[in-house]
Amino acid sequence: MDAISLEEVIQAVNGKAISNVSGLMVNGVSVDSRNVHKGNVFFAIKGDHYDGRQFIEQAFDAGAIGVVVSKQGGIDISGKCLPLILVDDVKTALGDLARHYRRKLNAKIIGITGSNGKTTTKEMLYHLLSHFAPVVKPQKSFNNFIGVPLTIFEIESKHKYGILEMGTNAPGEILRLSEIGLPDIAVILNISKTHLEGLGSIEGVALEKGDIVKNLKENGVFVYNADNPLCCEIADKFGGNKISFGLGQNAQIRGTDAKKKGNGSVFTIDIDYNTFRLCGVKGGGRRQFEIQLQVPGHHNISNCLASFAVCHALGLDISGLYNAFLSFKMPDMRIDSQQIGNVTFINDAYNANPESVFAALKYFEEIDAAGRKIFICGDMLELGKESHALHKELGEKASTLNLDLLWTVGKYASDIAGAAKDGGMDVEKVLSFRSLDDITEYDMGEFRENDVILIKGSRGMHMETIIDKYREYF
Ligand code: ATP
Ligand code: MG
Repeated sequence: MDAISLEEVIQAVNGKAISNVSGLMVNGVSVDSRNVHKGNVFFAIKGDHYDGRQFIEQAFDAGAIGVVVSKQGGIDISGKCLPLILVDDVKTALGDLARHYRRKLNAKIIGITGSNGKTTTKEMLYHLLSHFAPVVKPQKSFNNFIGVPLTIFEIESKHKYGILEMGTNAPGEILRLSEIGLPDIAVILNISKTHLEGLGSIEGVALEKGDIVKNLKENGVFVYNADNPLCCEIADKFGGNKISFGLGQNAQIRGTDAKKKGNGSVFTIDIDYNTFRLCGVKGGGRRQFEIQLQVPGHHNISNCLASFAVCHALGLDISGLYNAFLSFKMPDMRIDSQQIGNVTFINDAYNANPESVFAALKYFEEIDAAGRKIFICGDMLELGKESHALHKELGEKASTLNLDLLWTVGKYASDIAGAAKDGGMDVEKVLSFRSLDDITEYDMGEFRENDVILIKGSRGMHMETIIDKYREYF
C-alpha cells in the first residue's frame, strides 16, 4: 500500500478517533491480527466464525497504529489507551477506505465477474499482463467485501494494472464492489444459474452481474462473452466501449478450430481489427494466431479468450503473447489430475453449479481413459427452489455419458441418482450416499487399476476429502 495519513483514513471511513492521531502514517491494512505489521491499521470485523474485537490487543502488540472498530460497544480494552477509530459498520468502513484509496491510484483496474471462471481468468490475465508491467491480482478467490478491498490495498503507484475478482450471492453486491473498485475494464465472463437462493432466477443473476458496467470508469471498456445471450443483452443496452470474446461467429476476439492436444487444447485466435477501434495494432486488418493452452477443458478456452480480450481493451499489442500459455498453471482444484497408485483422480471440486458441472462433464466425456470413467458428484448448493429440478437435470445428463460408475453424495444425491437411473443408467452403476462419511474403505475398494475418477461438488461439500481418504486407504 502507498502510505497515507491516519487522519485521511479516519476521514475516508467517516470514523471518530478516540486518541490523538496526527502525524501517523498508515502503510497497510489487515483484518487478521496475525498478519498485522508495524504501521498497519487493523479492521476488527465480526465474522460468522470469529470476532475481530477479541484480537485488538494482539493487533496493537504487532504494531497496529489504529484499529477500526464498531461503535456498538462490547470491547474490553482493560483501561488501556488504544487508538481506536469508531465507525458504524466495520466492513462498510473497509470498503469505503478501499474506494478512497482506489481513487488515488493510477493503475488500470480490471474487474472480473461472471458465474464461472473468475479465478481461472484472473490467473490467466495476470499471466499475460505480467509480460507488460507490474500487476496485482487477488489472492486465492478473494472476491467479496473483504477480499476486494484487501486486493486494492496491495496496489501501489509502481503497479500498472490491478485485477479484481468480483463475486456475489445476493442482490447489490456487484454494485457495491464495483463502486469500490471503479473498474477501467469490466468483464462479465458468463451468466448462468448460480446462487439462486440469493439471486432468485437467472434473470436475477443477469441483473446482478450487469451492475458491474454501472461503475465503469469514463472511457472504460466492457468485455463480454458473445456466446452467452444474457451477456449480449447487457452489451446491447450498454452505450460505451465494448469488446466481445467467444467461440461463436459473433465474437470480436474469436476462438476457432479448437482441438484437444495432450492435456490441453490448441485453437486459433481470430481477431478482426476492423470491427473495433481499441487495439495496439494500427491500420485495422485481420489476424489469426494459434494458441496452445496446456490447460484442459473447453470452458478454459473461453476464459483464455476473455484474458486476451482484456489485453486488447487495455490497448496492448498481444502479438508477442501467443506462446504465453505454454507456461501457465491452473489454480488448484480446477481439473487437477492426481495419480494415487494406478487410479487417477480429477479434482474439480473447488465449486459446482449446473453450468460448471456440465463443463467438467464435457471435458470428462472427451478424455481418453485406459480404464473406467467414474463420476463422484456432491450437491450443488445455494440453488434455492430449483435445487431438486437442477439436480435431476444433472442426473439425466449423466445418464447419457457412458459413465462406468456414478456416485452421488449429499442432500440431493437421490435426485441425481434417481434421474440417472430413469434416464437408462444401469442401477448397479449408480450409488448414492447421504454424506462423505458414509463412503467407507470398503466402498473405495471398488476402485480398480486405470480408473479415472472425476470429483465435483460445491465448496461446502468438501468433495476433495475423498481423495485424501483414498490416499490414506491406499
Ligand atoms: P467462485 O465463484 O467459486 O469464486 P470462479 O468463478 O472463480 O468460482 P473458478 O474458480 O475459476 O470459478 O472455476 C470453478 C469451476 O468452474 C471450475 O472447476 C470449472 O468446473 C468451472 N468453470 C471455470 N470456467 C468456466 C467457464 N468459462 N464456463 C463454465 N464453467 C467454468
Ligand atoms: Mg473464484
